[in-house]
Amino acid sequence: MRPSPDCRLCTLSQNRSLIVLPEGDPCSPVVFVGEAPGEKEDQSGRPFVGRSGRILDGMLEEAGLPRSSILITNTVKCRPPGNRDPQREEMAACLPFLQNELKDRELVVGLGKSACRDLMGMDVKMKEVANKETAIDVDGKKVAFMPTYHPAATIYSKEAREALRQAVLYVKKTYYDL
Ligand code: SF4
Repeated sequence: MRPSPDCRLCTLSQNRSLIVLPEGDPCSPVVFVGEAPGEKEDQSGRPFVGRSGRILDGMLEEAGLPRSSILITNTVKCRPPGNRDPQREEMAACLPFLQNELKDRELVVGLGKSACRDLMGMDVKMKEVANKETAIDVDGKKVAFMPTYHPAATIYSKEAREALRQAVLYVKKTYYDL
């Protein structure tokens, strides 16, 4: 189940340019989930193509994990105005699409505090939870979940950069080196 190109299920439809659908291998065992599209994503209709996307791409390349082998998405598919956090009603409206993307995966990787909070259903401190595998509920089933830092957080933090790098390496080694 995907949103229609003209989805109007929530108020984020009012200011978006393009809906940003997941990109990559639809059969990937692992899905990376950010919070919401930013300006470049809104203009291109593709997830993680701005500065954060370039950082993530660099780490994927370093790990030898082609971007096309994973699935990349966001909790909501339309850009919130001014890059504010998505509101509860907006996330609820988009949730069926997200659940469809997450179900039957072997691992969900949450990128950044906001996405992790939404996926785990509670406030988190990234320092405490980063790279510690847990499980989340997806449509009534438990799915393995790894919270880690958003690529944008790695610009000014060595700790965040190393954690995200290690998370990507873990994904490659555990799910793709078979
Ligand atoms: S955020 Fe999701 S539910 Fe809201 S308009 Fe966009 S695609 Fe539809």
